[in-house]
Amino acid sequence: MIIEREVLIIGAGPTGCVVATLLARHGHQVLLVSDDGREGGLPVETMVPGASRTFERLGWSQLLEQPDPHPFLHPGPSRRGRCWGSSMLDIQPLDRSQRGWRFLRPGLDHWLQEQAVQAGVELRKHTRASGPLPSSGQGPVTLSTPDRSVIVDAKLVIAATGRSSAPPFLPVEIEERLPETIALSTIVEDATEETDVSIIEAVVQGWIWWLPLGDGRASLALLCDPAEIKAIGRVAIWKRAIESAQGPARHCTTSSTRGTLATARLNSISSGLLLAGDAISAIDPLSSQGLEKALVSAEATALAARTVLLGDASAATMGDHRQRWERGLFRIHRQRALDLYRSEMRFPEAPFWQTRHAVVDSKQTVPNLPVGLLCPSPQLQLHPRWVAAGDRLVSKDGYRLATSDEESIDHFGSVPTAALIELVGDQLPMSQLHRRASQIAPLVQQSPATLTTILGEMCRLGWLVEKSSTT
Ligand SMILES: Cc1cc2nc3c(=O)[nH]c(=O)nc-3n(C[C@H](O)[C@H](O)[C@H](O)COP(=O)(O)OP(=O)(O)OC[C@H]3O[C@@H](n4cnc5c(N)ncnc54)[C@H](O)[C@@H]3O)c2cc1C
Repeated sequence: MIIEREVLIIGAGPTGCVVATLLARHGHQVLLVSDDGREGGLPVETMVPGASRTFERLGWSQLLEQPDPHPFLHPGPSRRGRCWGSSMLDIQPLDRSQRGWRFLRPGLDHWLQEQAVQAGVELRKHTRASGPLPSSGQGPVTLSTPDRSVIVDAKLVIAATGRSSAPPFLPVEIEERLPETIALSTIVEDATEETDVSIIEAVVQGWIWWLPLGDGRASLALLCDPAEIKAIGRVAIWKRAIESAQGPARHCTTSSTRGTLATARLNSISSGLLLAGDAISAIDPLSSQGLEKALVSAEATALAARTVLLGDASAATMGDHRQRWERGLFRIHRQRALDLYRSEMRFPEAPFWQTRHAVVDSKQTVPNLPVGLLCPSPQLQLHPRWVAAGDRLVSKDGYRLATSDEESIDHFGSVPTAALIELVGDQLPMSQLHRRASQIAPLVQQSPATLTTILGEMCRLGWLVEKSSTT
């Protein structure tokens, strides 16, 4: 049997639910399917305070703010502890604005699915999509339940299938990754000590994450290296790590009951199939920002999808835009994770730490303030940037290097890139900066110090080449 739908979204985790809800609110006919697997991360996950802005944009602030919260939601612990970079366990109080939230993931996923259904989404549970998915982002997909199979012919297919998304199901390749990581975890049933403090602790084998659930239990996870598990065994690595802990984890006598893939990786896809959330880029759990990043990715995907459905851009153009957008965000998170790993230097012989310290980072140097003669790189090209305008994306004049794999830039802060390109022209002696800027309307209000900083940033990006004023 073949059925037709405007949009098919595969995966009803947080990402799939948000994309589906946003598209349904705009009147699109959306089928959302879920195989009810719980891929995600841990049974309980934290949500960073910054996610409240995303909830506000989605019209869901009441979930976080209501005085009588849902049973799957607890405010984050009132203290945060770290044993990182030194053997001292440092515990700091957090004020309300720094605490974030703790979610029982099955409850959160269920609530998000309900929001999608209320927005008009057709949700089919216990339904698995089989691949390979159409790389053009359009066409038939087979859906199977335990009893039967149907083929859905959709105008737009979106994959929100989580961290383990890979070929042959999806036409992707891994473009960037951090070292392989597994999360071993368990729920500690009687966590009588330290009931309101979350703790991250570096140990020889990796790092330990202690998160009290607020009901006398705690989630305990060890993030470690799968190669070491293979070499010394899961039981031994867990035992050694727990025994060396300084925090409340040291009292745990339970073995790990789950093993979850937790490697940070960026998938690359060169076709029109839209990917969202962890399906395209999954970040290191060390940042605790996976859910927030997934929700933001979902919003961005919904905008790209709507732009295709309205006929304002092709699926291929939006696929390219999404890839560049995710790449930029992934690199920011990658950098943060690497900086954190580098701030722990106590275990130089340990394989977990050696592999992470060995990753060559793409950190770029702090820009210098230019003083000489600035010339544009011959590689600099005018290329549109897709920016949000209400319910869709519109193209704005932007620039990027021909060799760049990230998005074009249309503004540096509040300053339009086009005005800066006009300022530089064929060449700009820095001694003439003030006089020239005073003749370009969008630059008149900018101080020479601000403009010099921006020009330094353009040099750092390789857009401008600085020559000494005498050459
Ligand atoms: C160990 C660990 C700890 C983490 N802790 C945190 C934390 O504390 N805070 C935080 O913010 N983030 C955390 N994260 C990250 C967070 O779990 C993810 O970022 C988030 O789940 C991504 O949501 P998603 O909807 O993109 O993917 P998922 O939640 O993985 O959902 C994908 C869904 O698609 C379904 N699916 C897959 N294939 C198919 C198919 N063929 N047909 C039908 N359905 C399919 C899956 O079953 C699943 O339900 C953690 C991650 C890990 C690994």
